[in-house]
Amino acid sequence: MLPAKEAESIILGLVQPFDQQLDAEIVELSAATGRILASPVTSQLDFPHWDNSAMDGYAVRYADVQSCNAEQPVELEIVEEIPAGIEPQSTIQPGQASRIFTGACMPQGADTVVMQERTRREGTRVFILEAPKAQAFVRYRASFYQAGTPLLQAGITLNAAEIAVLAAAGCTNLPVYRRPRIAILSTGNELVTPDQPLQPGQIVDSNQYALAAFVGLSGGVPVPLGIVRDDPEALKDAIAQAISSADIVLSTGGVSVGDYDYVDRILAELGAQIHIRSVAVKPGKPLTVATFPPTSKGSKGGAKRPMLYFGLPGNPVSALVSCWRFVQPALWKLSGLPQDSCKPLFVKALSRNDLRSDGRRETYVWGQLHLDSTGTYEFHLASGSQNSGNLINLAQTTGLAVVPVGQTLISAGEPVQVLQVGSRY
Ligand code: AMP
Ligand code: MG
Repeated sequence: MLPAKEAESIILGLVQPFDQQLDAEIVELSAATGRILASPVTSQLDFPHWDNSAMDGYAVRYADVQSCNAEQPVELEIVEEIPAGIEPQSTIQPGQASRIFTGACMPQGADTVVMQERTRREGTRVFILEAPKAQAFVRYRASFYQAGTPLLQAGITLNAAEIAVLAAAGCTNLPVYRRPRIAILSTGNELVTPDQPLQPGQIVDSNQYALAAFVGLSGGVPVPLGIVRDDPEALKDAIAQAISSADIVLSTGGVSVGDYDYVDRILAELGAQIHIRSVAVKPGKPLTVATFPPTSKGSKGGAKRPMLYFGLPGNPVSALVSCWRFVQPALWKLSGLPQDSCKPLFVKALSRNDLRSDGRRETYVWGQLHLDSTGTYEFHLASGSQNSGNLINLAQTTGLAVVPVGQTLISAGEPVQVLQVGSRY
């Protein structure tokens, strides 16, 4: 049994990230939210596009107003009114000003804006009551971004702020990595879909839905392949289909040591190399990680890369914990996120409850991470049984607290490492 950290680094080592060219596609800005840039983006527009005013006020020549004050105001002639969106017509001469509004273009000749609160208007004349700083309240063209220089780097996830930047810079078609396709299959004779009436002994295949949700929230495209019976032939066909239709395959169940646990054997028969068979964690000990060599076609249209297979435990709690702990970093790395963003997100928190373990394996207990009023993370253990069969109290989980090997108790009030789980976007 491998320690969790070792399993994590083996898994990350097996992932060959998307290729900047072969695994990229162009999407429109309106469809780009949550996607990851595959190449740097450059704009042909300066930002700001024009010298413009940051205030409602008067565009002036600094030289005219540099030494005025309330006792000795400077009087200027107003030659034009410039609302936002209009090209100024006049050039400001000594002794002149233009009325200007926030965002409006600066007129030729002016270099400074005096905010209207520091002025007194009398008809077509304005009195400047306080000397501004030179170039005050002017947002100069290209002062924030120069056309032709890199605007956003490859590997950046496009959230609201990046979308705003791209829109402002007129970038409407974006090179992003394709979304990884993740095949999901559930193994087990006892499984039925949620819409079916249950016969005695049957259970609902919740893993199919849980994993599809996990994949979608992680930026992947779930490819649900349904339920496969614990029958070696059926399983072989299903796994063969899965590996030809996705970048990563997730199967649940059948990786334990039971009489019906065939997954490892079939993977070997299909030519997979098995890298991990179990990990010293609880829940989630049975975890098979295997790779298939790249297919001759270069599957899925992208670059040729080994296909990664995760045989996850069937138990729904174990399956999700394994996804959060081991699949998530692999999926992020494949997707094109920078290396340091792929690591699982552990934070230090103070536990609000006693956390227990048998001390034999690294133990993950589920609950919620909260920030207290001083900005310290607190971990609240989910109420009810911390039993890997108890899927119900997994709802609302935002953190998995870690009780290290050899430790049987982390007392309330003590610090604990907590894996942040849930959506990244
Ligand atoms: P297994 O790993 O196949 O031995 O399954 C372990 C436990 O998880 C058993 O109680 C199964 O009934 C349950 N289980 C397996 N697959 C699923 C699934 N897809 N959805 C919900 N429970 C499952
Ligand atoms: Mg089973």
